[in-house]
Amino acid sequence: PFQFHDTHDNREDTSMHDKHLIFIDGRWQAPASAGAIDIVNPYTEARIGRVPACGAEEADAAVQAARAAFPLWSGMPAAERGALLAELHRRLAARGPEIAALITSETGMPVRMSQRLQLGLPLTTLELTVRMLQDFAFERRVGHSLVVREAIGVVACITPWNYPLHQAMSKVAPALAAGCTVVLKPSEIAPLSAFVLAEEIEAAGFPPGVFNLITGTGAAVGEPLVAHAEVDMVSFTGSTAAGRRISEIAARTVKRVALELGGKSASVILDDADLPAAVKTTVNVCFLNAGQTCTALTRMLVPRSRHDEACELAAGVARAFTPGDPMDEKSRLGPLTTATQRDRVTDYIRRGEASGARLVAGGAGRPAERGFFVQPTIFGAVDPASAIAQEEIFGPVLCIIPYDSEDEAVQIANGTIYGLAAAVWGDEARARAVGRRLRAGQVDINGGSYNPSAPFGGYKQSGNGRELGVEGLEEFMEVKAMQLRD
Ligand code: NAD
Repeated sequence: PFQFHDTHDNREDTSMHDKHLIFIDGRWQAPASAGAIDIVNPYTEARIGRVPACGAEEADAAVQAARAAFPLWSGMPAAERGALLAELHRRLAARGPEIAALITSETGMPVRMSQRLQLGLPLTTLELTVRMLQDFAFERRVGHSLVVREAIGVVACITPWNYPLHQAMSKVAPALAAGCTVVLKPSEIAPLSAFVLAEEIEAAGFPPGVFNLITGTGAAVGEPLVAHAEVDMVSFTGSTAAGRRISEIAARTVKRVALELGGKSASVILDDADLPAAVKTTVNVCFLNAGQTCTALTRMLVPRSRHDEACELAAGVARAFTPGDPMDEKSRLGPLTTATQRDRVTDYIRRGEASGARLVAGGAGRPAERGFFVQPTIFGAVDPASAIAQEEIFGPVLCIIPYDSEDEAVQIANGTIYGLAAAVWGDEARARAVGRRLRAGQVDINGGSYNPSAPFGGYKQSGNGRELGVEGLEEFMEVKAMQLRD
């Protein structure tokens, strides 16, 4: 049903990204273990590189280096840390096109969007962090006390594959700004941009040990990091399942834990909303990055009387999402990032087809011979209690759910274990009032969009703590009250 446009002329993949070294204590070092993990381009299905498969030994070495660097780094004037971060920004910006293409090759996100989201967002976050640091008050007087904010210590940053550099930067930049030292463990599926980050941190002249990069799986290297007694905080973005496990392990040493987890975000369209505009934005947000976005609006709640009209409008918007070569500037829908993810999403689409929901667009059939593609799929008349409406699918699958009253809409919107994001459409005052009733960390009112200066995070099982903004910087700080004798 979807026209597939293939501009890939079977060129040989000549650009291999084979990484044999990890970055610890300011030096590129050979890991103790010899294993490697292959990186696969989800469009060509070819191997495009490999990274070391580290384990507990490398985790320990990286943590020791970060621990040793902590007194110097946290004791340095904030302005000096800011100057190094500004230099890092200049260096990464200079490698912009390379970074966007690299992330497209490992994740499959269409390159035009990569330039804006995979490169533009992290650069903006870094720039905003530098500016925020200039104005940040590390101490204030409260009565006879001096309330002082101090860096927490050694932070383990563990990130997923869907926005690899953005997720790393949302942790690394504020952690370093706060005076923490860092061990970054990127996703084993999309780790390549983390190497560019490490190279430029080295070139910018950060002191040894302030930033360390190790690679490997969650089980082999992530867990030893989380368990390590010398790690003061774990900042994690990923699935709710892994977040639970990390919380349990971190509890043994009462570590600080910041978790950015999954979502099943609702777009609530009220009866006085501009329906075509609301549907268009909801579908676009749902299908962004082939649905592999934690804040994807995956449930569209519409008044029952406008359900059929909404289905028709949504199917029209979906037609613009032509699957194609991610390196082609015209492509709007890339493949899913892994074959496992493709199979998981296809399985959910089959379950949706069997659930009694109405198939409005797409379906379980494969749109292409090669590449981990699925069809952008929309279900109408979805039961809000069914699996496709409750579980995070992490693919381009939208559920349209009819409701009968505003109260029911709020109840359905809040009726999952998640609480990451939401949207409300309708009369402005009414939309804001409904927005306040939604248990979610960010609520877009009438098309208001992501703001990199505002705090970001989830309610309920979508996580705890906040990233970005002043709140995101303060996450990496302890608070000390010094009682003075005056
Ligand atoms: P994942 O949880 O499988 O892996 C994320 C990272 O955690 C990887 O680096 C992985 O190696 C590591 N990891 C896994 N198990 C671990 C363990 N037991 N101990 C330590 N580390 C472990 O997630 P994923 O598949 O890479 O990413 C997709 C998920 O991330 C989705 O659920 C999505 O909603 C979520 N996500 C959330 C946000 C947010 O900000 N809330 C943003 C993007 C993605």
